Parts: sequence; structure tokens; C-alpha cells
Amino acid sequence: MAQVRAYAALSAGAPLVPFTFDRREPGAFDVEIAISHAGICHSDIHQAREEWGPAIFPMVPGHEIVGRVTRVGSEVSKFKVGDLAGVGVFVDSCRKCENCMAGIEQYCTGGMTGTYNTYEKDGTTIVQGGYSSAIVIHEHYAMHIPESLNIEGVAPLLCAGITLYSPLRHWNAGPGKQVAIIGLGGLGHMGLKFAHAMGAEVTVLSHSASKEKDARAMGADHFVDTSDKSFKKTLSKKFDLILNTVSAELDINTYLSLLRLHGTLVVIGLPGKPYSVEAGSLLTQRRSLAGSMIGGIAEMEEMLEFCAKHQITSEVEMINADQINAAYDRAVASDVRYRFVIDTATL
Ligand code: NAP
Ligand code: ZN
Ligand code: ZN
Repeated sequence: MAQVRAYAALSAGAPLVPFTFDRREPGAFDVEIAISHAGICHSDIHQAREEWGPAIFPMVPGHEIVGRVTRVGSEVSKFKVGDLAGVGVFVDSCRKCENCMAGIEQYCTGGMTGTYNTYEKDGTTIVQGGYSSAIVIHEHYAMHIPESLNIEGVAPLLCAGITLYSPLRHWNAGPGKQVAIIGLGGLGHMGLKFAHAMGAEVTVLSHSASKEKDARAMGADHFVDTSDKSFKKTLSKKFDLILNTVSAELDINTYLSLLRLHGTLVVIGLPGKPYSVEAGSLLTQRRSLAGSMIGGIAEMEEMLEFCAKHQITSEVEMINADQINAAYDRAVASDVRYRFVIDTATL
């Protein structure tokens, strides 16, 4: 066992405080990673504040993790000591079901093991996340990070990045496609960068007019301030694909009406409340309402190669550990440009 430094929420909605706990000794197939950077995802905030139902405390959030491998188990073949490695939203799955075998472990039929706010397969050990100085993980669930990427902007690729890359690939974003991204936060800005690099025409739908300049600099062809409701008319039946990354409730019917024939709106944001869908919003243009959850290990590796090729990383604000609580409040106020990343040396 090795003791690690961390920040944890001790109860629902409590401010995060310094915390220590033990990580297991690396087993035969495990790698130990000294964490250098940990991104703050809005899912961390939802869970620490128990917005998705009962959560497990103490909770060390964080599922956008980057660091260097410090120890490897006797059977590890994927990594050696010193390698730059990343960990995302899950740390285990059955590795036997058809979805695991197909490399889409996030849809493991028995359920993947999240990076925190759950128990390990033993049913008793609380899994703790990335706001910590080290993690021990089965080698399969860690990814190699290209050394050519700007390290500060890499951690958010492991959740925000893959969560947008995967649906853009699945629904064939590319030249000739009209893609809209709702919400320019951590996830949304990665979706914008990827959709632009894939060759789609990209529209950002944002309720923050002040983000227009940044959106255009990141490749947006169009920027629409949704606080001006005239967009419902001007953008009617325009898009092939809409990705909804908004962390709060919104009127889904308004956005469904922006889909052209056979268009798809993908639900990605998880406000924790049900949407109210009008049948007419779907059937009039044979539209689809879909969902998408992060991405598998193989797809994350593909995304990291894509990032190296196009030199794509996240726009980040680096913070110290004692700024985590303020960062949570700023994220909820849509005041993040565009992802907070914790320098874990300050834990
Ligand atoms: P974030 O950085 O806080 O960004 C969310 C964005 O949503 C904000 O920047 C804002 O964009 C918009 N927004 C927020 N409140 C709004 C409101 N009241 N009305 C309209 N727009 C609002 O959050 P994130 O980390 O990108 O995560 C977004 C959501 O995705 C969260 O619910 C998170 O839990 C979920 N998530 C899902 C998956 C998955 O696998 N499906 C993975 C990770 C996260 P504008 O200022 O541009 O309007
Ligand atoms: Zn996340
Ligand atoms: Zn499985």
C-alpha cells in the first residue's frame, strides 16, 4: 500500500478538502502512475454535489488524468517506467462480454467500473479518482499519451475529448455535414475543435455571447447566441447532427426542430432531470434523439493519434488544489475558458 495525497468531498455538497488514502500495490497487470495533471469535468461537480442521486463519500473526484508511469507489475507489456500515460472515466470492466471484446468497454454489459464514486469489483473498496498524487490501474485502461502534445491541455482529452470525438465519428461528421454544438464548455470546445478538424461546417449554439471570439478562433463557422430566440426560425431544419453538451436543463424540442430530415440530436449533457420530448419534434422530419457516453480504449487511442496529427489539445486554466472549490462555482456559472486543470503538485 502507498499513501497518496488528494482532495476529497467528505459529504454531498461539502467543499473539497485535503485528504489522504492508500492505493493498492501494483498487481501483475497494474501500472502505477504519478499524476501530474487532473482536469475538472462537470460530472465531478454533479457527483460531489449528489445531483445524480446517492453518491459514495469520501469522494476523490477526477477522471481526466495524466502522469508518468512509476512502477509496473511483472506481467505488464503495454507500459514501461517513465512513459507518459492517461486515464479516463473508467478503470475496469469485465473484458469478456461482446462490448468489451469489441473495444467499447464503456458499454460493458456487466457495467464498467467508474474512476470514482463506485466500488471495485470486490464490492467493498471505494474507487478514488484523479485529484490525487498517484493512481494504480490495470494496464488495459491506461492510454499512451503522445509526447508531442502540450501536456497542460492533454488531461481533458480523456473525458471531454473522447466524449465528443466518439459521437462525431459514430454519426460521420465530416465534409458536407452541418454540425451544431450546444454549450461551449469543456466538452463543447473539444467537439468544436474535432468537428472542424474532421471537415464539417460547425455552428456553436451558446448562451454566452462573450464566447464568440474564442469559438471562431477554435474553428466555428457560425456562432449563435441562444439568448436571442430568433435562432429557432433562422436555423430551422438546418443540421445533420446536433451534440447537446449543456449541463443544465434546456428545452430539447427547440433544438430538435433545428434538425433536417433524418438528423440526429445526441444527448451528452447529464443535468440529472428528464427531458420532455414532443412526439411531433421527432416524427415530422424522421428525426432521431440519441445518447452517447464517453468512448472505449481503442477509440481513445485513435483520438490521441488524431490529436497528435492535428495538434489538438484543450484550452485550459491551470489551477492549484486550493482553487478547486472556486473552480466548481465558476464552471456552474459557465465561466470556464474552457477547462480547469489541477496542478497535482499542489495537492
Ligand atoms: P461545462 O464545462 O460546465 O460546460 C457546460 C456548458 O453548458 C457551459 O459552458 C454553457 O455553455 C452551457 N450551459 C451551462 N448552464 C447552462 C444553462 N443554464 N443554460 C444554457 N446553457 C448552459 O461542463 P462539461 O464538463 O463540458 O460537461 C457538460 C455536461 O456533460 C455535464 O452535464 C456532464 O456531466 C456531462 N458529461 C457527459 C459525458 C458523457 O459521456 N455523456 C461525459 C462527460 C460529461 P455556453 O456558455 O456556451 O452556453
Ligand atoms: Zn467527465
Ligand atoms: Zn464487459
